[in-house]
Amino acid sequence: MRRITILGATGSIGQSTLDLIAREPDLFEVVALTGGRNIAQLAKDARASGAQLAVTAHDDLLDDLRTALEGSGIEAAAGAQAITEAAARPADWVMSAIVGAAGLPPGLKALEQGATLALANKESLVAAGPLMIETAARSGARILPVDSEHSAVFQALVGESMDAVRRVIITASGGAFRDWPRDQLASVTVEQASTHPNWAMGQRITIDSASMFNKALEMIEAREFFDLDPERIEVLIHPESLVHALVGFCDGALMAHVGPPDMRHAIGYALNWPERRALPVAALDLAAIGSLSFSAPDPGRYPALRLAREVMAERGLSGAVFNAAKERALDHFIAGRIGFLAMSGVVEEVLTRLCAQKGLVDAGISLDSVTHLDHLSRVCADRVVKEQHR
Ligand code: NAD
Ligand code: MG
Repeated sequence: MRRITILGATGSIGQSTLDLIAREPDLFEVVALTGGRNIAQLAKDARASGAQLAVTAHDDLLDDLRTALEGSGIEAAAGAQAITEAAARPADWVMSAIVGAAGLPPGLKALEQGATLALANKESLVAAGPLMIETAARSGARILPVDSEHSAVFQALVGESMDAVRRVIITASGGAFRDWPRDQLASVTVEQASTHPNWAMGQRITIDSASMFNKALEMIEAREFFDLDPERIEVLIHPESLVHALVGFCDGALMAHVGPPDMRHAIGYALNWPERRALPVAALDLAAIGSLSFSAPDPGRYPALRLAREVMAERGLSGAVFNAAKERALDHFIAGRIGFLAMSGVVEEVLTRLCAQKGLVDAGISLDSVTHLDHLSRVCADRVVKEQHR
């Protein structure tokens, strides 16, 4: 029996993970599930999976969670600290599927205890890549990618030497507005930005896909995960979302990973690694699909990609600034305070201001320094929004 914990169990990735685990109940024992405000879902999943512990991120919902778990014998807890403690409970495999920088402390805790960390929470790698990698190396823990592009690269690299890799190409669907003229993007609504043409995902990553901030985060994620020089990381627009990534080798070969847009493939690969086992994922009928298309991203249309390159060049703690400023700009867009196109301007301004302060982004990386800069970046983003949009 493998002991499993799912951080962010009530979200899109968490639910797909539970779906896979429920299909083979004899193989897995659920240690802990964590969630947010959806107490009914959290309690239902904790009961169905036989979890030992269920944790909500919100202190004010502890009584509700206790009531929902009454008679089950399942422990209930609440708050950010309780989530980190849940990640410290002995487990063999931990799914990191909280959205945002809140996933960093529990992800690190899971790595400290030596668990295999299936990483959907790209934000933690963007904000604190070297810290995550060092923590894993110290305890002997493994990080397995769950982001579909990175899982695809990881799979294409099996049996290969990194010395033979010339480039890694991650694909982007182009998001909800890929066919819209750019001048119409200023007025898109939150609702319009929250629908993805190919993937069913949480609201925040869906909007990030439309703005291409998701791909910007993924470029940095690839840089950290595979220890690649930034110039070896390319982005290709591929509207069908069937080729998830390609790895280019020194002999000219390009190895492409092709599959349907179903996250259960990447989650299942991380769950079964290093084996491959059957998954409930549809087989692609390429003859019926007929053709696949690719194009270069227009840099003027997607400033987020340029900002990602700047962050990769700056390194240090600039990833923490970038991620936090993006999260805050997204909060302001969702709250209706700024327009869709204004998000990249806010992020750029926060990067400019904080990277100009000597010693700030080149301080040593630790959970404390990342948390501190994350906080400063959010405050700075709020100030920029106030100044630019009053
Ligand atoms: P989601 O919004 O559907 O779910 C997020 C989960 O995190 C929920 O369980 C929620 O309760 C919890 N959560 C939110 N804020 C929290 C906080 N402050 N503290 C503790 N828990 C909190 O998101 P998702 O689409 O499942 O994405 C989860 C992560 O996986 C993100 O990092 C995302 O970028 C990444 N990812 C998602 C997909 C996808 O297909 N959905 C694909 C690739 C990567
Ligand atoms: Mg992805």
